[in-house]
Amino acid sequence: MLRRLREIPPTAGLPLQAADLLPRGDALTARLAAQLGTPPLQLECSGTAALLIALATLRERAPGRDVVVVPAFTCPLVAIAVHRLGLTLRLCDTRPDHWDMDRRALAELCDERTLAIVPTHLAGLVADLDAPLAVAREHGAFVIEDAAQALGARDGGHSVGLRGDVGFFSLAAGKGLSIFEGGLLVTRDDDLRHALYATAARDVPAKPGWELRRSLELLGLAALYHPLGLRLAYGIPLRRALREGDPVAAVGDDFPPDIPFHRVGRWRRGVGSRAATRLPAFLAANRTRALARVARLRALPGVTVFEEAPHTTGSWPFLMLLMPDAHRARAALAALWTSGLGVSRLFVHALPDYVYLADRVPHTPTPNATDFAARAITISNSHWMDDASFEHVVAVLAAMLG
Ligand SMILES: *Cc1c(COP(=O)(O)O)cnc(C)c1O
Repeated sequence: MLRRLREIPPTAGLPLQAADLLPRGDALTARLAAQLGTPPLQLECSGTAALLIALATLRERAPGRDVVVVPAFTCPLVAIAVHRLGLTLRLCDTRPDHWDMDRRALAELCDERTLAIVPTHLAGLVADLDAPLAVAREHGAFVIEDAAQALGARDGGHSVGLRGDVGFFSLAAGKGLSIFEGGLLVTRDDDLRHALYATAARDVPAKPGWELRRSLELLGLAALYHPLGLRLAYGIPLRRALREGDPVAAVGDDFPPDIPFHRVGRWRRGVGSRAATRLPAFLAANRTRALARVARLRALPGVTVFEEAPHTTGSWPFLMLLMPDAHRARAALAALWTSGLGVSRLFVHALPDYVYLADRVPHTPTPNATDFAARAITISNSHWMDDASFEHVVAVLAAMLG
């Protein structure tokens, strides 16, 4: 009976514990930098706010450059941030059957106007950086690594975010370690780090009202982040949105135009800092679970399962697969999306295909990204996704593919 009232979250978030809510210190950034082996991290109120600060800082260094190149399959907030700064967005199509930017398309899109290229580590897996770094070097552009989904992912033994000029992580609800909303900036360049700090010191207001709201939301997250609470907070709105024929709202891709911009208070930093003590063990367990399940999914005929590239380790918030065609992706979602078993979609569309973004996104056709969005499904890597639930999902997919 209870089983039907449970909802497995679509991603593996690190659950908060009661003791986290009574923090003593607030050394969130220092703790994470030590764990990840990064230079000092800069905390902002969201991943998007971190991206805004990175773009504004880089623009001051290269005032003649005003174009930002992003993959066509990424978070709508990235497009909203670029638009918000008055910069020009260019969408790079992905390579076939993947979310990485297509190398040739990227080379054609970049020129002396390019301010930054934003390779994106989706699903906690390390993106290709060789092509973006080479193209950026050729044109004198910067590289911003979007590691919003990849806190803890490693590339050649180092944290992601350090090969590009700047990297950012998200601490939003559902993205691993969370303080409900938060973001981190990282760079290996000392001068740039000081410039990023200076931009934030100049541009980010305190806004205690926003901080109070986020603190209450974090308490709500702590109270409801378990399978019964998630039914209420996530499952019921999901089903309502799908009933109303609104998959964009169902996955939460319908972001408001305004990006909150304020300082993160001491209490939330303290909560994050306490929860972060459990992050290394959490990531290790998630990875072990994910690698075993990837092996199971690989046996399904006709699906592409996304895995770690050589010399990289993922942070594995969920498993991502590509169905052989859009028809079977729709069928899989019809059978599983509202089953409570952690099956979902990452982004419903490629960026040009969101109606609500039409005034902010160029209407360039990006057929590979559109095809990718229509065929991709995600399977939660939450620890609440037990073996029985996972095997049920595999059996449904196998019947569909057989
Ligand atoms: C979530 C996300 C962002 C934005 O991060 P927020 O902390 O939600 O502002 C940016 N890029 C990607 C790929 C994301 O998944």
